[in-house]
Amino acid sequence: MNMKRSKYCGEIRAEDIGQEVCLMGWVQRHRDHGGLIFIDLRDREGLAQIVFGDDASTSAVEVAKQMRPEFVVAIKGKVSRRPSGTENPHIASGEVEVRADEAAILNEAKTPIFPIEDHLEVSEDLRLTYRYLDLRRRPLQRNLFMRHRAYRTIREFLNSEGFIEVETPVLTKSTPEGARDYLVPSRIYHGCFFALPQSPQLFKQLLMISGFDRYFQIVKCFRDEDLRADRQPEFTQIDIEMSFIDREDILPIMERLVCEIFRAARGIELSVPFSRLSYDEAIRQYGLDCPDTRFGLCLQDLTELARGIDFKWITDALDASGRVLGINILGGSSLSRKQIDEFSEQAKSFGAQGVIWFKVEGGILQSSFAKYLDPDKASVIKDRLGAREKDLVLLVAEKEKVAYESLGRLRQRLGQQLGLAEEGKLCPVWVLDFPLLEYDEKEKRFQAMHHPFTAPMDEDVGFFETAPERIRAKAYDLVLNGQEVGGGSIRIHRRDIQKKMFEILGIDEEEAQMKFGFLLEALEHGAPPHGGIAFGLDRLMMALSGAKSIRDVIAFPKTQRTQCLLTKAPSPVDSVQLMELGLKLEQDPD
Ligand code: ASP
Repeated sequence: MNMKRSKYCGEIRAEDIGQEVCLMGWVQRHRDHGGLIFIDLRDREGLAQIVFGDDASTSAVEVAKQMRPEFVVAIKGKVSRRPSGTENPHIASGEVEVRADEAAILNEAKTPIFPIEDHLEVSEDLRLTYRYLDLRRRPLQRNLFMRHRAYRTIREFLNSEGFIEVETPVLTKSTPEGARDYLVPSRIYHGCFFALPQSPQLFKQLLMISGFDRYFQIVKCFRDEDLRADRQPEFTQIDIEMSFIDREDILPIMERLVCEIFRAARGIELSVPFSRLSYDEAIRQYGLDCPDTRFGLCLQDLTELARGIDFKWITDALDASGRVLGINILGGSSLSRKQIDEFSEQAKSFGAQGVIWFKVEGGILQSSFAKYLDPDKASVIKDRLGAREKDLVLLVAEKEKVAYESLGRLRQRLGQQLGLAEEGKLCPVWVLDFPLLEYDEKEKRFQAMHHPFTAPMDEDVGFFETAPERIRAKAYDLVLNGQEVGGGSIRIHRRDIQKKMFEILGIDEEEAQMKFGFLLEALEHGAPPHGGIAFGLDRLMMALSGAKSIRDVIAFPKTQRTQCLLTKAPSPVDSVQLMELGLKLEQDPD
C-alpha cells in the first residue's frame, strides 16, 4: 500500500473542500446505487461519506464493490461539498464528502456479531464477549476519551500542587479495607501468598515517613466483594497522601482537584466550597452516610410522638428501644396502592418489616393505620412531618440501625423513581466526623469504620478505655448524588495510639506484628503527622458520563459475577502449574 493517512475521517470539514485527503478506517455502511457507490467510513473521530463516482478509477470502483461493513479500508480522494439537500446535519463532516479516486482493502472482516450502531440495544453479555466491537461504538469511546482527559488533568493538577507520582507494589501483603483479598500463591515459598492490594494505604503512609511529603498515584485496587451495580473487583483509585496537614488543609485542595476533573472532562463548573454534613446529621436527615442531597424528603424522628400508639410494629420497635421514622411525599396521595405496596417490598429488601403509610385526603388521614391514631395524635404527627392535603406519609418502626438504613435507602430509591433527583444536577457533599469504630453484633467486637490507621479526634482519645463507641474519627468521605466517590482520613502517626487501636479491634501484639510489623516499626522512626484520601475514579467517571453501569466507563470490565467474558477469566490452570505452586484442588473445576 503506498497510501499514507492524512486526516481522521471525522475531522474533514468545509474548509478542506478542494483538498486531496487519504482516510483509513472501518466501513460503517455500504450502499451500491449502480453508477454510484457510497461508503460511510468510520474512525475514532467520527464518520466521513465517501463517494465512488465518475472520478474514481475502474479499479477503485471494483475495490469499493467488494467492501462490506467493518472491512478496514483506505481511500484517497478530493473533499467536495455534498450536493444541496443531501447534507447530514447529524454528523460533524455532514456538509462534505470525499470523491474517491483510489481505494484499497487493508483487511476483511466477518459480518459483525452485532451492527456497530451507537444506539442499537445489544445484550450486555454479547457486548462484553466482543468488547473490541462494542468499543468501536461512540458511547464507550466517548467515555474512555473522557477518562483520558481526567487522567491528564489529575496528573497536571497534582503535579502543579507539588505531589509526586509513585508506584506501589501489586504483589504485596494484605491491606485491610474491609473486603476479602485476592491471593496469589508463591511458587518459591509454597504455602505462602501475596495479596493484591485493597489499597496502597500502608505504602503511602511509609512514603510520608520517608519524607516525600505529597504523594499520588492513579492505581488499580482489588477487593473480592459481592458485586453491585457500582462495583468492580478491580477498580481505579486516585490515591493521595500529604504530610504536616490537617483536615482543613486537605479538603480545599481536593475540592479544587474534583472541580478541575469535572471542568476538563465535561466542562462542568462545580461551586466550592462543597457543602458539609456531620455523620450524625447525615444519618438523622437522610438515614445514610452517603446521602443523595439533590432532593429533600428528609427523615423525621417520630419516636416520642409514637408512644402510646397500639400498633404492633410500633410497640415492638419501642420495646426494643428502636425508632419510628417517617418521610412525607409531597402530592404523593395520587400514588396507587400497588405503588405503595412496592415501596413496602423495597423497604423489606432493605431489612425493615415493611412501611406503615397514610394519605392526607379531605383533611383526614386515609389508610388502615389511621384507626390506630386519635385525632390529636394524628394532627401532631402530620404537623411534625409537614404533611398537607394530598401528601403521602411512609413510616418505618424498627431497631435504630434498621430504621435509619431501610428508610434512608427507600428515600434514595424514591428520589429516582419519583423523579425528585434531577438528572444532570451534581451535589457533592463532605460527610465528616464519622465514628471511629462500629460494633459488630455478630462477631461481638468493634471494627474500624474506615480502616485501622484512621486517627481518632484528639479530644476523644480518652474514650478508648471508657466508651469506644463515642470516639469520633478524623475521617471524611466525599459523596456525590448518593454515592461515596472518595474517602480518607488523618492517620495515626504515633505508635502508642496505633497500639490502642489494634487492641480495641482485638488484634493482639503477635498478630499486629505479623500483619503490620513493618508499619509499627516505621512509626517509631520519625513518622510525621499525615493524612490523605482516595477517590474512586470509576465512580467519578460514572457520574460524569451519566453511565448507568460502572462497566460503561471501563475498557475491559468484569461482569457482576466477576468474570471477563472476553478472555474467559478466571479459568482453570493445568496441573503442572498447580504442582509448581504446591497447590492441589479438592475438587476438579466444573
Ligand atoms: N485507603 C483508603 C481507601 O482505599 C483511602 C484513604 O484512607 O486514603 O478507601
